[in-house]
Amino acid sequence: VFVLMQEVCSRQSIDRVLAELASMDAIGHVSSGAQRCTIEVLEVGPRLDRGRLERLPAVAGVLDEPGQVLAACHGSPPRATEVALGSRAIVGGRQVAVIAGPCSVEDEGRLLETARAVAEAGAVALRGGAFKPRTAPHSFQGLGNRGLEMLGRVRQETGLAIVTEVMSVAQIERVTAVADALQVGSRNMHNTPLLRAVGEQEKPVLLKRGWSATLEEFLLAAEYVRQAGNPHVLLCERGIRTFEDYVRNTLALAIVPEAKRRSGLPVVVDPSHGTGRAHLVAPMCRAALACGADGLLIEVHPSPTRAWSDGAQALDLGGFRELMQGLGPLARACGRDL
Ligand code: PEP
Ligand code: MN
Repeated sequence: VFVLMQEVCSRQSIDRVLAELASMDAIGHVSSGAQRCTIEVLEVGPRLDRGRLERLPAVAGVLDEPGQVLAACHGSPPRATEVALGSRAIVGGRQVAVIAGPCSVEDEGRLLETARAVAEAGAVALRGGAFKPRTAPHSFQGLGNRGLEMLGRVRQETGLAIVTEVMSVAQIERVTAVADALQVGSRNMHNTPLLRAVGEQEKPVLLKRGWSATLEEFLLAAEYVRQAGNPHVLLCERGIRTFEDYVRNTLALAIVPEAKRRSGLPVVVDPSHGTGRAHLVAPMCRAALACGADGLLIEVHPSPTRAWSDGAQALDLGGFRELMQGLGPLARACGRDL
């Protein structure tokens, strides 16, 4: 059980709820951050009187589930959030933002070549991992700091915004120094200390859906970031695990409009990890635009067969250019620009 306080509430009214809970043999856990103050009722016993709590000053309501708290906190419809990506792009407005680049940063020449090609084709940001969360410890783990330095120089050279992953709290300072948005990967969606820590940063956060996370769990993970003070979250649908094994993951496009409706946050679709197969990337990009995606995260590599990670799902530079040419008219038909 949660007591939801009104948007404006004093310390006194919180203390009043705590005292009232104590008189009902319960303990209140106060949670206040950038979002609405809530008080979780610990040890709900027979003496809990919900009506009495509801009538206290500055109490907005008494709710049963975190999902209800989430919905009540943001109102319906929630206020739409726009997220700036570098100095050139706003995600969540009319423009659909395309973020493209290799899975991993491998080599500066190739990174620069890719950056120039994707910028020319219309991407607003370059993606590329320096810290790579890999399934096997034997696999390439990313260039780490050296990769970050390359991203920093390519950012200088091209003016592209940089989106790159941060895997741990200890990496945040180094990643923030070069990134325009901090990517939290699917494996880390449940890492609450990391979510809180990126929530204390000024840079926007691209939060990828955990591959077994429900929509509500996904939105609650975003709430950790927002609660810590950072409202600039881009939700990223990147596919979930199902019994289907032809595709690497099952891209769950139905959550795109629903996640937007419930959170007011922009939603980015990643058809690369969402399919694992390069030839499915373009059709899923089109489907993503049609269902209201605010951005696309696409893996691109100058020579996919030689990529150090995720080559099977990467488009080559020509394939990406062609894809972008096709998406322009579709975006306009959907009332958007690319
Ligand atoms: C990635 O974007 O390269 C990545 C590792 O994605 P995910 O966290 O969705 O698996
Ligand atoms: Mn990848």
